[in-house]
Amino acid sequence: MQPAQILQPRPQGIYCPKADLYIDPTRPVERALITHGHSDHARAGHGRVLATAETLAIMGARYGAEFAGSAQALRYGERLDINGVTFSLHSAGHVLGSAQAAAECGGTRVVASGDYKRQPDPTCAPFEVVPCDVFITEATFALPVFTHPSAEHEVRKLLASVAMFPERAHIVGAYALGKAQRVMATLRACGWDKPIYVHGALMALTDLYQKLGVELGEIRHVTDAKKSAYEGAIVLCPPGALQTPWVRRFPDPVTSVASGWMRIRARARQQGAELPLVISDHADWGDLRRTIKDTGAGEIWITHGEADALAHWCEGQGLKAKALHLVGYGDEGEPAGAEPGAAA
Ligand SMILES: [Zn+2]
Ligand SMILES: [Zn+2]
Repeated sequence: MQPAQILQPRPQGIYCPKADLYIDPTRPVERALITHGHSDHARAGHGRVLATAETLAIMGARYGAEFAGSAQALRYGERLDINGVTFSLHSAGHVLGSAQAAAECGGTRVVASGDYKRQPDPTCAPFEVVPCDVFITEATFALPVFTHPSAEHEVRKLLASVAMFPERAHIVGAYALGKAQRVMATLRACGWDKPIYVHGALMALTDLYQKLGVELGEIRHVTDAKKSAYEGAIVLCPPGALQTPWVRRFPDPVTSVASGWMRIRARARQQGAELPLVISDHADWGDLRRTIKDTGAGEIWITHGEADALAHWCEGQGLKAKALHLVGYGDEGEPAGAEPGAAA
């Protein structure tokens, strides 16, 4: 079976004609398979949605219970036949509930990775290599400059700064879904046992993570307490909040951002990060290449990011590669203010 008979790129997303199903569609469709809850992949308004139970819960928290006509949960590894195509979800290691989508028909398997990472993350299941004929990957960090140190290494930099400036508050910008909770869990793993303070925009998803069994310790909502209450505190907020008057309530704040983009100094400056932390939920250049090899796929389709650079590398390896340049994906897709309560 030709891979394009199983999955093919369309303007609305990756499409399976036999099952009349889109993976991570960017516009409302009748039937959608959603890889994970980031807003550039998971949108409201589809007829039927197939995803992990965690991703469905995240969509419910973000968009309300009516985010789709109907929803069906699929466990990792469970197989579902839709009109002759067998679909299954496999852990992507990106955020809680994130999955790669495998579609199989006539002995040919195509895997759409969604977003993924190979680094350990205490808040979600580890990435699973799924052998396939065609691997559809992202390429957010597909340039040699992008190497991601371990999250523990970066969090220890934060803790060293807290120890050095005990009278200052440390304010860390982190995306509301996944990154914020990963930073919290990594702080705990590194021995930080004091309360962690959060901006209102991070509260709902952090609560949901805890309800779904992810241990994050004591999390407190930032209030209008006097400045001195936050001396020596670690506070998490959406990256966009760092450049707002909100930070002025903290004593002599040290501003920080947790993102793979922090590898680029100009980007760190632009985001107002005095203490950049290179913590990414996407594969870095090394892990992108390793993963492509590990899948054994002979053909690579690239959805978004540095697609041409990755395609060029694939061709050098003797692999067929195609840059899809899909519109609508990218970064974590969470502009400041997009979250409920972001203005708080
Ligand atoms: Zn994502
Ligand atoms: Zn994405």
